[in-house]
Amino acid sequence: MHSDGAKTDVKPRSSSRYAARLTLGIYRFVRPSAYCSASGNWRCLVGNGSAGKKADHNVGKTRDHTVPQMYLRRFAEDRGREQPELTVRRIDHVDRPFPTGPKNILVERGFYWGSTLEGVPHHLVEELLMQFEDDAAPVMKAVLDAPEGALPESWPLAPVERMHLAWWMAAQILRTTRQRKRLTHASQGGKALEVPAGIAAIAANNPHLQYIVGHLAALALTLYARPWGLGFSGMCLLTSDVPVVLFNAQDADDQLAAAAFCDIVLPLDPHRLLLLPGIATQALDSRKRTDHRMVIQGAVGMALVQVVYDAADTFVVHHPLHDPWRYWKPSGPRLPSPWDGQNHPAPTYAIEYDILPPDLTVERRWLTEHPPPTTTS
Ligand SMILES: [Zn+2]
Repeated sequence: MHSDGAKTDVKPRSSSRYAARLTLGIYRFVRPSAYCSASGNWRCLVGNGSAGKKADHNVGKTRDHTVPQMYLRRFAEDRGREQPELTVRRIDHVDRPFPTGPKNILVERGFYWGSTLEGVPHHLVEELLMQFEDDAAPVMKAVLDAPEGALPESWPLAPVERMHLAWWMAAQILRTTRQRKRLTHASQGGKALEVPAGIAAIAANNPHLQYIVGHLAALALTLYARPWGLGFSGMCLLTSDVPVVLFNAQDADDQLAAAAFCDIVLPLDPHRLLLLPGIATQALDSRKRTDHRMVIQGAVGMALVQVVYDAADTFVVHHPLHDPWRYWKPSGPRLPSPWDGQNHPAPTYAIEYDILPPDLTVERRWLTEHPPPTTTS
């Protein structure tokens, strides 16, 4: 059992696991009842013994999605009767695609279970992540289902919508399997807390969960402050178990600093994406210092597919009817994974694109029709 003299003087304010709500900007950040301050004092959270009251036979056994199903469904073919189908490729066998549903992929048993200092299991981080998904889902729907075109007339988003999506993106940067592997590798040699054998597997998740909670607010606000580009891609896009990619800084030790300056891409569906131009990209075009829209031509779209592919941990995912492999093949080394003994130089990226005038959009038919790919931008 842990004992470092760090007595917690914070008591749960009620029997509710979510008794306290903290207002951060315009976002309603629900915090566990004993999460005692905005400074991210994780000891308060892990010291909350009451969090384990709901502990049951599901402890450590839930199927936790590292990428939300609501996001993956955007890359799924609707087969009716709630049978959406994705095409998935393992990175080590990319030429052997296989079909599966969003509920069956990018899921890890017990991934977001943690334990308190008293050794009581809790699933609070998963519940927090689910709230972000609930808030972001209608924003994504409004953007992607806008009837007037493949790119909505209403852009930028309203501040509250923008904030919901910023929190979701921040969570998605922090919650991945790649992030956990990076953190675990970086902490090798560190002193591990002694925990009861029965919860050792759950307690092993704690450093990553602590990292998520400790960085969420600052990362969300950093993303919110950036200019956002909403794009249509003529090239079919894919996504992965690392859907938000930080150009040239994916595995940076300081994820907050990286997210403040680098280009960031998030495929939203097979033909739409969010692209947050970094400092260097903004310097080349002042119009990219505010929210804007874009049309990504074929060659640049292929480059984005490569960027997402390079950052994937284990799987890439694409729509069965929007297969990037029809036009593209992976090339060159992917991002190194030091935790697997790979230390080769990382590929580097720069992106160029033009912005779309405010009075133009893209017809929605181009979300499903595929004209011959162009290789010029
Ligand atoms: Zn397509």
